[in-house]
Amino acid sequence: MVEVRRLPKDPGPAAWNALLPPRTGRRLDDKITADWLVIGAGWAGLAAARRLLQLRAGDRIALIEASGVGEGPAGRNSGFMIDLPHDLASDSYNGAAESDRRDIKMNRAAIAFAGDAAEELRLSDEAFAKVGKVNAAASEAGGRHLDDYARHLDGLGEAFDVLDSKAMQTLTGTTYYRQGLFTPGAAMVQPAMFVRALADGAVAAGLDLYEQSPVVALERVGREWRASTRSASITAPAVILAVNGHAESFGFFERRLMHVFTYASMSHALCEEDVKRLGGVPQWGILPADPMGTTVRRIKGTGGDRIVIRNRFTYDPSLVVSDEKLNRIVRTHDQSFRARFPMLRGVEMQYRWGGRLCLSRNGVPAFGEVDENIFAACCQNGLGTTKGTLAGMLAAELATRTNNPLVAEMQASDEPVRLPPEPLTWFGANAVMRWKENRAGLEL
Ligand SMILES: Cc1cc2nc3c(=O)[nH]c(=O)nc-3n(C[C@H](O)[C@H](O)[C@H](O)COP(=O)(O)OP(=O)(O)OC[C@H]3O[C@@H](n4cnc5c(N)ncnc54)[C@H](O)[C@@H]3O)c2cc1C
Repeated sequence: MVEVRRLPKDPGPAAWNALLPPRTGRRLDDKITADWLVIGAGWAGLAAARRLLQLRAGDRIALIEASGVGEGPAGRNSGFMIDLPHDLASDSYNGAAESDRRDIKMNRAAIAFAGDAAEELRLSDEAFAKVGKVNAAASEAGGRHLDDYARHLDGLGEAFDVLDSKAMQTLTGTTYYRQGLFTPGAAMVQPAMFVRALADGAVAAGLDLYEQSPVVALERVGREWRASTRSASITAPAVILAVNGHAESFGFFERRLMHVFTYASMSHALCEEDVKRLGGVPQWGILPADPMGTTVRRIKGTGGDRIVIRNRFTYDPSLVVSDEKLNRIVRTHDQSFRARFPMLRGVEMQYRWGGRLCLSRNGVPAFGEVDENIFAACCQNGLGTTKGTLAGMLAAELATRTNNPLVAEMQASDEPVRLPPEPLTWFGANAVMRWKENRAGLEL
């Protein structure tokens, strides 16, 4: 029997979810059986459930989640579903050409899967819109990163448009950015709205969804697996483990997963005067030219017109970040916000939060059959909206032995490599991240 060693703990409120009406999910309060069990209702778990419903209509499919749908990292992100190379460990997101081509193909399959769901569920543009993304530079060094990125995209045969400082101001209202690079293939989502809609759509199609029901043990019972909460259980012949870094809490991929947190703040709703002073268009998203810089979104919809800022990374192998640490780190958000939006003096942040990422040192997923009939769809390397969707969808195909060449490609990737011992990794990873954040200069 595996006793789950650590349960998820999410620092600060999930702002995107807080903008939506309160949700009361059903808890697991009985001993039940199912044909398929998915653990974790993030991007990966919801994609796995959706794919299982498509492939095994009529089977009993259960999905169990420790918190509420939209409360975990799935509803805490900046909402960029990116199709292009996005290696956070590189200087300008680029990887090797051949693996980047493969990644683009896989990422696009995931975005198409999410797009089909959005269409079927008739989601609004606020929840999901394939509008592309802009990478932006504020400094000369950032400009060099963008040039590198553009050359790389050119080599891959990918389309892009270069935006000058005037075009950047027309888009964002601020004069902060000197250059931008638009690429058309990304989707922008309201993450909590999207995952909730996916969950509700799956329930309408027959999924048994249990929320606020942390799995504390997983054990073999004959040829089946039993996942227990403190007072109930689900027994099923096959399990898809979609808990990202918490795969390690279930005893898989030990010392191979890097638990990194990143942080965001969302402003109060802007008033009419603020909107006039800001200028620009009502909705946009900017990724930093330097991966260690600041992501910014302006959103308009449920919850009004707001600015969302994301930056900073910390390596926390305990999988826990204290409130003190969160409060210390998010001060950087205020600096980044003030530097970009001097015209919004007086606008304060309403929500501040952090969330878990799971990275591997060699940038590969933790995917595949990890025990008999346990399929992992974990370790999304910081791009979980896209790669989580992909892993969940392909784990469902692997589990049902569905023929899809992408499954074989996913299985062919290396295993996450072992990390050096602690506290060596802690010192090393945090020192490198602090150094890179300093080096990012105006991009942060
Ligand atoms: C501030 C921030 C900004 C980000 N921006 C982006 C972005 O723009 N684009 C992007 O692609 N990614 C972004 N990310 C990363 C993205 O959110 C994650 O990679 C993604 O959520 C991972 O999806 P997942 O389904 O694999 O895991 P998760 O979303 O973490 O879902 C796993 C679920 O498993 C549940 N779970 C864990 N243990 C148990 C248990 N014992 N029992 C039951 N359930 C359990 C958890 O509660 C959780 O809900 C960002 C993250 C943060 C924090």
